[in-house]
Amino acid sequence: MAKPITDFVRSTLTPVEGYTPGASRLTDRPVVRLDWNESPFPLTPKAQAALTRFTLGHRYPDYQQMPLREALADYVGFDPERIVPGAGLDDVFATLASISVEPGAEVIIAEPTFGVYRSLFSMLGATIVNVPLTQAPEFLLDTEAILNAVTGNTRLIILCNPNNPTGNLITRELIETIVDNVPCPVAIDEAYAEFSGQDHLDLARTRDNVIVLRTLSKFAGLAGFRVGYGIFPEPLLPYLRRVMPAFCNISGLSSDIAIASLQDLDILKQQRDLIVAERTRVIAALDAIPHVTPYPSATNFVLFRLPVPDSSVVLDALAARDIFVRRYGATGWDLQDCLRVSIGLPEENDAFLAALTDILRSLRTSGQTE
Ligand code: PMP
Repeated sequence: MAKPITDFVRSTLTPVEGYTPGASRLTDRPVVRLDWNESPFPLTPKAQAALTRFTLGHRYPDYQQMPLREALADYVGFDPERIVPGAGLDDVFATLASISVEPGAEVIIAEPTFGVYRSLFSMLGATIVNVPLTQAPEFLLDTEAILNAVTGNTRLIILCNPNNPTGNLITRELIETIVDNVPCPVAIDEAYAEFSGQDHLDLARTRDNVIVLRTLSKFAGLAGFRVGYGIFPEPLLPYLRRVMPAFCNISGLSSDIAIASLQDLDILKQQRDLIVAERTRVIAALDAIPHVTPYPSATNFVLFRLPVPDSSVVLDALAARDIFVRRYGATGWDLQDCLRVSIGLPEENDAFLAALTDILRSLRTSGQTE
């Protein structure tokens, strides 16, 4: 008798759903999609031209993606050899996980943070050690607790800066305290760095244990093309090469578009400036709504607290108007009364703010708000 086929699944895998993504789906119906922290801008002219020009779909791309790695290296000022690209930053995390994690390994994270760390690393058998961020509104790293959590089994510490979903920038001093006082690698996820005016690239230059992780999904607006990258310490490169999938998992089209986008850096910076200006405007507008508390943001999204015990009532009411934002209720992060909204085009932000104001007004009238 054959055994149930599920007996052959890796023992560290459980049939529990991992990462919970945003709710909106891409459809032909125009909706206000502010739940994925995407860029609201279309491809830049050079990227659009690369898309139109592409004719090499029947050919494999460059095996090691050297042209893409050179373009990324040029952008961040590193040797292309140290750049490890992947099909989105999620994929680079999978590469990092496959060289660092096995059952018994401990990975330290600081929640509330990006949900993929927990789901990916625990799926591979790591024990996740969560050292929670300090309470709102600071949401800072508890450096002392992190240093105390390090054991002989700690393989990796993952810090997200600026952090998702809280949006804040963690001070450099705290990051350096951790980097300089632990024996293990520290991965700094800088998916949103371009919106923050700060980065930790110099730490990847001066410290042997720092990995900086980046993506073109956010400020470069290439979420659909899936291009992320990491800057890794040199001694890890032979191991990374061993586990990296052929072509770094990136299609020829995606890599051409990424290279072309980086040639339009001035336009990307203008778009970034517009998002940052809109972020200031959205935070001020949220603050002006009675009993709504937006938190400071160094990203392209804003986390805000609402005068309702459970924000799903507002989430659902917004969704009923085709406006999608993100909620983090089920995770025990004390964010049940919060929502996270991505910064979109001015008219999308206006639609969101008007709908939120209206929904809260009717909840107040019916006695459902505090
Ligand atoms: N890190 C953080 C903090 C993120 O928010 C995201 C996307 N939401 C990613 C990594 C993954 O980005 P991508 O795979 O699109 O490059």
